[in-house]
Amino acid sequence: MDLWLIMLIAGGVLLVIGLALGVLICIAEKFLHVEEDPRIAEVEKMLPNVNCGACGHAGCHDMAEAIVSGEQQKLSDCKPGKKDKNFDPIIEYMKSHPDKDGKVHAPTI
Ligand code: SF4
Repeated sequence: MDLWLIMLIAGGVLLVIGLALGVLICIAEKFLHVEEDPRIAEVEKMLPNVNCGACGHAGCHDMAEAIVSGEQQKLSDCKPGKKDKNFDPIIEYMKSHPDKDGKVHAPTI
């Protein structure tokens, strides 16, 4: 068999496999998509975003999840955080953005 024909067939097979996987990923994204509480992203933006782990969490996103869920009460566990720049805005935000069931998780400094 001609080398060019073999390369053409191999390229065609890879193209079909790539397209099939792309379609599968699109379908999976549609059905397996997990909706995240938008407050987590907002609280994360207010954290220092050093991702140092000094708070005992895996990073700032993990800390933001814990704040929003009410699991993390003490904001000063975030060592690089500043009261005026980080903690006060987070407390105000959490006070004005309750859970879907109306429950307020307002952390403290
Ligand atoms: S200590 Fe603060 S800056 Fe460091 S990971 Fe935790 S929340 Fe982020």
